[in-house]
Amino acid sequence: MAIEFLKADGFDENGQLRTVKVRSLNQSSALKCPHFILAAEHYRDDESCRCDDKEHKEMKEWGYKWKGKRWQ
Ligand SMILES: [Zn+2]
Repeated sequence: MAIEFLKADGFDENGQLRTVKVRSLNQSSALKCPHFILAAEHYRDDESCRCDDKEHKEMKEWGYKWKGKRWQ
């Protein structure tokens, strides 16, 4: 099963919110993330999660702290 990440892309002529697909991710890949983070930018192109990527600064914004080898 795949998870689809969407983002808002304005409104159509009927005033309905339009969305575009950012990317899709296999559910099994998301389940491998120790924090189950559901954000498109949290996964590399090969679908591995970035809990072990020190340069993944969004983790800090999300309230995680870098401890040695991974975001906790
Ligand atoms: Zn992760």
